[in-house]
Amino acid sequence: MKRTLIHNATIINEGQRKQGSLVIADGRIAEILTDGRPLSAPCDETIDATGCCLLPGVIDDHVHFRDPGLTHKADIFSESRAAAAGGVTSIMDMPNTNPPTVTLEALEQKQALLAEKCVVNHSCYFGATNDNYTLFPRLDRTRVCGIKLFMGSSTGNMLVDRMDSLRRIFGGTDMLIAAHCEDQDIIRRNTEKYKAAYIEGADIPLNKHPYIRTVQACYASSRLAVQLATEAGARLHVMHVSTAKELPLFSNAPLDGTKQITAEACVAHLLFEMKDYKMLAACIKCNPAVKRQADRDALRRAVVEGQIDLIATDHAPHLLTEKTGGALRAASGMPMVQFSLVSMLQLADEGIFTPELVVEKMCHAPARLFRIEGRGFIREGYRADLVLVRPHTHWQLTRDKILSKCGWSPLEGRTFEWQVEKTFANGHLVYDHTTGVDDTYRGEELRFHA
Ligand SMILES: [Zn+2]
Repeated sequence: MKRTLIHNATIINEGQRKQGSLVIADGRIAEILTDGRPLSAPCDETIDATGCCLLPGVIDDHVHFRDPGLTHKADIFSESRAAAAGGVTSIMDMPNTNPPTVTLEALEQKQALLAEKCVVNHSCYFGATNDNYTLFPRLDRTRVCGIKLFMGSSTGNMLVDRMDSLRRIFGGTDMLIAAHCEDQDIIRRNTEKYKAAYIEGADIPLNKHPYIRTVQACYASSRLAVQLATEAGARLHVMHVSTAKELPLFSNAPLDGTKQITAEACVAHLLFEMKDYKMLAACIKCNPAVKRQADRDALRRAVVEGQIDLIATDHAPHLLTEKTGGALRAASGMPMVQFSLVSMLQLADEGIFTPELVVEKMCHAPARLFRIEGRGFIREGYRADLVLVRPHTHWQLTRDKILSKCGWSPLEGRTFEWQVEKTFANGHLVYDHTTGVDDTYRGEELRFHA
């Protein structure tokens, strides 16, 4: 059996930072050599990791790889390559594709596509509609990461807007319900108000997007979701929380397996704020909208304090040609999966997070929250999903570095201090900074403790 030694890294894992080495064998972490522990047997290959940090691979619980049906924007192969280059070793894909993943047949098709095309590990959500809750008991809970519920419409049309359906969804499953929360009536009223204020046929300016998809729209919907989940005793995960006002809805209890209501923040809402619309315009248009600086700063604090349980990307690529126009016409969503880890490590450099906290929120927390089997931590016997990142590199994000099919990023022009050097999925070197992605490799399907 081939043994690979990752030699002399700074291992950041479970709140600790230790100098040491690690042995990969048979796809797993075979030995962790810290605190002076010697190798048990010689290795066939040594990777010198001097100067690098070794982290568990990032698990991104929120990506839209647009496959099947929207593959002019992105596809599983192209976006999973971007993930690998970003140190992301596992992804959970969203169901608002064409066809949407709202039937057992579509779910089977999605799982087959992921197995065929995804170069990192993968799972996918089953999408709720107003009336498919009867299928929930037939889902394999060891293979499906959760149920995605749109309590606010976005790309695709999977809005669940009937109160009786919402009650049945929350009451009908003990699987995790991942919810997009924005109140549709509030958004509709605001849209009409702004439409009336602008000339017929002209679009509403882009910077009005957060005045249409308001704080109140987010709060009303998140509050309702929390209320319904609490009444039903359901497992609710509120995705992409974007406002300070929503934060008191969530507890800062640790993810110990009993926390029923959890919250996600996305990289865009942690990086951008209202003033950025001036420079980046539709490139940072997403749903829920990027809001005030005070909201961004409150989200950052909530990551530290624990009301936000994990950080994901909501990687949602569109072509640049689809990102033109104002608040009505420009598509919502942006690519983010390739640069999420380095962006969050950058916030650690700025003193907002620590590298240990970034690892907690991007690697450990998804594993805990979704009860993923054998991943998300650097532990002996766990799958060797690992990323080597080098600090103090100072590089600029230029378009030629982008692997996402859409070929642009809202972070273009920014400089980063951290660089992803190598990404291992199941012990396989799936990305190397010097040679690129191993396009022949395919990740494994995630498994969940029921
Ligand atoms: Zn999303």
